[in-house]
Formats: sequence, C-alpha cells, structure tokens
Amino acid sequence: VRYLRATDFVLDLKGGSADPYALLEHAHREMARLDPQLNAFITIDGSVPEDLERECRNRVLCGVPVAVKDNIVTESLRTTCASLMLKDYVPSYSATVVERIVGAGGKIVGKTNLDEFAMGSLGTTSAFGPARNPLNLEWSPGGSSSGSAAAVASGMVFLALGSDTGGSIRLPAAWTGIFGLKPSYGLVSRYGLISYGESLEQIGPMASSARDLALLLSVIMGFDEKDSTSLREHIARDRVESIAFTNPKPETLSGLKATVIKELVEHPDSDEVMIREFWRALDRLSSEGLSYEVVSLPVVLKAPQTYYVIAFSEASSNLARYCGVLYGTRRLDFEEASWEEVYSTNRGLFGWEVKRRIILGSFVLSKGYYDMFFSKALKARGLIKRELDRLLSRSHLILTPGSPVKPLPLDYDITDLSKLNAVDAPLVLANLSGLPAITFPVGWTGRIPIALHAIGRFLSDDMLIELAKALTEEIFRVKLPFEVM
Ligand code: GLN
Repeated sequence: VRYLRATDFVLDLKGGSADPYALLEHAHREMARLDPQLNAFITIDGSVPEDLERECRNRVLCGVPVAVKDNIVTESLRTTCASLMLKDYVPSYSATVVERIVGAGGKIVGKTNLDEFAMGSLGTTSAFGPARNPLNLEWSPGGSSSGSAAAVASGMVFLALGSDTGGSIRLPAAWTGIFGLKPSYGLVSRYGLISYGESLEQIGPMASSARDLALLLSVIMGFDEKDSTSLREHIARDRVESIAFTNPKPETLSGLKATVIKELVEHPDSDEVMIREFWRALDRLSSEGLSYEVVSLPVVLKAPQTYYVIAFSEASSNLARYCGVLYGTRRLDFEEASWEEVYSTNRGLFGWEVKRRIILGSFVLSKGYYDMFFSKALKARGLIKRELDRLLSRSHLILTPGSPVKPLPLDYDITDLSKLNAVDAPLVLANLSGLPAITFPVGWTGRIPIALHAIGRFLSDDMLIELAKALTEEIFRVKLPFEVM
C-alpha cells in the first residue's frame, strides 16, 4: 500500500491491516535515495525498533517516522543547531515534545537542517550547507525549518517538527506546498528547544496534510511543568485528535468572517502572481460562504523591524553561553591563552549571520540605546498586539498570502532585505502577538505552490486546522508536492 497520510496508516494499523514497519521502511529507503541531493537531514538515525508489533500497537504514533528540527534536543542523538559551535553536541536528555512523540510510539528518524540557530529565512546560513527545495533544487525550501519542509514535501516522512520564532515553520511550508502551524504561545512546551527568541517562539508540527498536522499537534501539545510559560488551560486533546480522523464538517465556512490587511497584499516588494493567486483563492472562498473585510493597518509594515529588534536582543542574551567553557565547542583552552583570546577564538565558530545578530542585539540593549530601540520595539509590539486583538474581536481570522513572493533561489543575497521584509511582515505578526497561525496550500501555478496564511484568535489552533482541512480537502482539492514533482 502507498500511504499518502500518516493518519491512514494509523487507522490501518488499528484495524490490523497494516504492517507496523511499513512507513519506517519507506522513510529509510527514501532518505537514502533522496537526501544526498536534498540535504534535508544533518543527522540520520537509521535504527529500527525491535518489536513494534508487541510494543506499541495501541499507541497513536506506533511505527510512524518523525523528523525533528536540529535545534530540538534528542537524547543520545547529535543536536547541532546547524552550527560549528554545537557540531559534536550529543544531548543527555530529550525535549518534552520528543519524549511525547517517542512515548506515543513514534520513531525519530533524523535531525533536520536549518539556518544556523534558526536565524534566517532561506536555510542558507546552515554550517552544513543548505537544504534544497524538492520542487526545484535551485530554490530554497524556505527557512529556517528548511530540512523539515524538504523532508515532508519530498515524501520521506509525513510528520516533522519545526520551530517558529518569526515564521520559520510557515514560510517553508508555503514554499514547499505543505502545512505548518505556529501554535498559540504556551500551547506546546519549549523545554529542550535551543532558544533563539524565547518570547516569540513555539515548536510546531509540519505535515503534508491537515489531518497529519492535527495528529502531531495532539501528541506534542499540553501543559509541561518544565516550561514556565506553558499554559495550564488549553485545547482539549481529544478535539485535536478527532480532527485527524474525521471528515471535514460541511458547515466550516458558513458564518466565518475574515479580515484582510491591505498593506500586506499591496506590499511593494511582493510578486504580482502571488497576490493575484491570493485574491483568486479569496474569491473562491467567498463564493463558498466566507465573508471578508479589507482594512488598512499601516503599523504592520513596521512589524519586521519590531520583530528583529526583539529577536536579536533575546538572541544576544541566549547565545552568550556558548564560549566553549560550559557550552559549545572548545577550540582554545585557558592554559593556552588569555581569557579574551579564548573567548573570541571559541566564539569565532559562529557564522556571519549569527555574529551579526549577537552584535546588533547587544548594541540595542546597551545603555544609551536601550530606550531608543529596545523599549520602542516593546511599545510597538504592544500596539501591534492590541490592533490584532481588535481585528479578531470583529472577525475570526486574519488572512494573508502564505508568501507574497515566489520561492527565492538558494543564491539569493540575504543582505537584500526588500523581499525578505515582504515575506516576514505577515508571519511575524503571530509571533509578536502570541496568536496561532497556519499556512496551507490552496493550489499550484506550475511548480510554484500557492499558500494561504491564517492568524486566529488565541487558542483557536484546532479551528485553524479544521478550516485548513475543509478548504484543502473539499474546496481546493490540492495536490501534494510529491504528486506534483
Ligand atoms: N526570518 C526569521 C528570522 O530570521 C525567522 C526565524 C525563525 O522563525 N526561526 O529571524
């Protein structure tokens, strides 16, 4: 049987008609065949669990391979953050999300490529070379969860974990034609996620269908006492799990109100075809019962700047620990040289982009500049959050293009911020506000995937997945990337 979804396999396994090793063998075979080209994985774990038959038949992810972004720690499995700084780091414990996946019978098949410390949008700052987009090997798969997206879009695995500090799950999902969710802040534990910008980021699921997205979310979500920002009140796990195993509800769109922010679809640096396809999708949805209102909210154009000041500040503090003493690779020891030399030699292992961000973050936090930049960014963040809450008190969703630009080539110059700001503006809104947001495919123009991005009310993650399921299965009937390839 050729499975197109992990959830189908899970149902067959329950019904006794599936071989518990089927997906795992498929993953190992496809990883061996495709990864030399795609470079989606930094580390592969090809081990096969002994007795799936007896061990986990009753657990929901039994025998399901899962790829994990390499900034999420895995016990005894190397975790590099795609950095020379951590190139030999083998953690002594697993992130809560990983423990939950393994506890549910899932098998971690490898650690996926990313921008170094998740800093980037194209996957190209990785010290291990970039992951490639399976739709076109010259394109970036989007970043920073580049490897997770490439692994899912190429059909190596159905499920992957990403992290999203400022769009890193949703952009790669948009550029590879898959689904990605940035959960409500606090819904998924960050324990064991190597921090970049902790007030912004969440671990989240990436998958080639909405059902599989729900399946993985249902396993990883929920309170964790090891993360002080983890929510005690959250969404009922059964509800999320039921999205994975039921058909779409016919009334999903009726009575649904959406808001479109004018500045995001009129962004000067967007590509015409992507905006045209966005309006076309919206027309289709309004003929199916969705009502939407277009509003002007100029402050969203300042969202990337606001985001980067906060993200760099948090990064400069989070990455201060890597100097080769307690954390990080030690190139030079104290017996050999002065403290300054040891410190700067060891920290010289960071790549250019990471260094740039640490320096800028330290600068905006320094005395004299703090008020000029950091405090101002916090005020802007508050303003953006209030404005989004206001829009979401009148409507259920904010809809934007998944990406206003076509997938960028791997040799794109990342110091040219024009396209990147256009990409970031809609995505970082969800991180600045803590709101849940989903990216899902609605069609193709040639090999270019067209995606929608929906930001929902706090803790409406289940509704977002339910909606993506209904739209992709009933209305757009979207082809999977590995069917287009
Ligand atoms: N483009 C964003 C950045 O470079 C995305 C990062 C992320 O979400 N990890 O910060």
